Amino acid sequence: MVSKHLSKVAAYKCEQYDTEKIKTVFRKASQKIDFDLSSMRNMRVAIKPNLLRDSSPGKGVVTHPVFFQAAVQLVKENGGIPILVESPAVHSLDRVFKKTGYDEIIREENIEVSDTSRVKVVYNEHARRFKRFELAADAVDADMIVNLPKFKTHGITYITAAVKNLFGTIHGLNKSQWHLRASTKEEFATILLDLYDAYIHHMDKTILNLVDAITALEGEGPGPSGSPKSMNVIVAGLDAIAVDYVLSKLVQIDVNLVHTVKMGDSRGLGQGREEAISILGDPVDLLQVMDFKPTKSSLSSDMMRWPFTSPVMRSLFVQRPVPSEEKCTLCYQCKSICPAGAISSAAEGEKIPAYDYKKCIRCYCCMEICPESAIDLKNGKLQWMFTIVST
Ligand code: SF4
Ligand code: SF4
Repeated sequence: MVSKHLSKVAAYKCEQYDTEKIKTVFRKASQKIDFDLSSMRNMRVAIKPNLLRDSSPGKGVVTHPVFFQAAVQLVKENGGIPILVESPAVHSLDRVFKKTGYDEIIREENIEVSDTSRVKVVYNEHARRFKRFELAADAVDADMIVNLPKFKTHGITYITAAVKNLFGTIHGLNKSQWHLRASTKEEFATILLDLYDAYIHHMDKTILNLVDAITALEGEGPGPSGSPKSMNVIVAGLDAIAVDYVLSKLVQIDVNLVHTVKMGDSRGLGQGREEAISILGDPVDLLQVMDFKPTKSSLSSDMMRWPFTSPVMRSLFVQRPVPSEEKCTLCYQCKSICPAGAISSAAEGEKIPAYDYKKCIRCYCCMEICPESAIDLKNGKLQWMFTIVST
């Protein structure tokens, strides 16, 4: 359980994807955060990496397979029974495993892979707003979760790390439907926090968060439009809010922009304030990254309240996704992921899909999924006003 008073987060330098070196960090970090690894004995442990899509590990989009392997071995060495739980948004798991190099690790470690189409309904009557979730049954049934996020930028949540990674336990395409239910970034954060609340309080799960920030993703993450960034850091903690706070601080991100941290702290789901977190491990000075590039798409994040969610106001004030004619191959992965039905086939003679910006809810799922990094963000006509306000 997360401490009500002080959360311990451990952060260590790690410059290589080397199984033994990563395991050494995991052991040191577990000790620092008071997690007894032997408590995993005979437990069914759901291991949840971030396998957003079919991307080679060097691109910084997925949790590195060696990082995953280190976690699997750690669980096994301590008597736990690991099961891989992940449900990519569009591609099949087989395709994702092949491209990310997970297939080899799964074979080598002989690890069970969850069938995430097998779902269980979790109803958390104490949730702030979203009480009902359909989640991967193996995540629900597991005795504990080892959460292995990739640290990345994100157009809606600003960063994606420990809290956001649990969203991947919602089955495949159902994830994009959730975007329709949230008309603001704060509402989307509410969904993520209600889900986190369901795990830690309703299901009473222990979640060991081990974040892969050895190679992170900066710029227009969390998909191929972002750029890999060497941070050479592993961050660990039992409080996902505190872990995300520490990661934000390490890259000089204003945590007030990270709604999951700010709102998670005020809801009492974890600690999101400096004075409530004990940062252990290597000195923070050694771990800080001073030139990390945040996403552009969150400039207006705090201003995304009604009436900015109406189609007209959105078109004036919120960045819209625009495919490039040079890069687009008309694969239509964007069309299949779009939860709002805002994308249709290219008109005759056109080289890009047709976007209906009146329907577009600016969830940026299309950008996340585009295999060609062909989608860029264009400012709304009056968005310059925010630049003036924020400088
Ligand atoms: S914008 Fe990207 S995802 Fe959409 S059709 Fe073009 S290449 Fe495919
Ligand atoms: S067009 Fe792209 S950003 Fe707009 S709703 Fe569809 S997937 Fe989301």
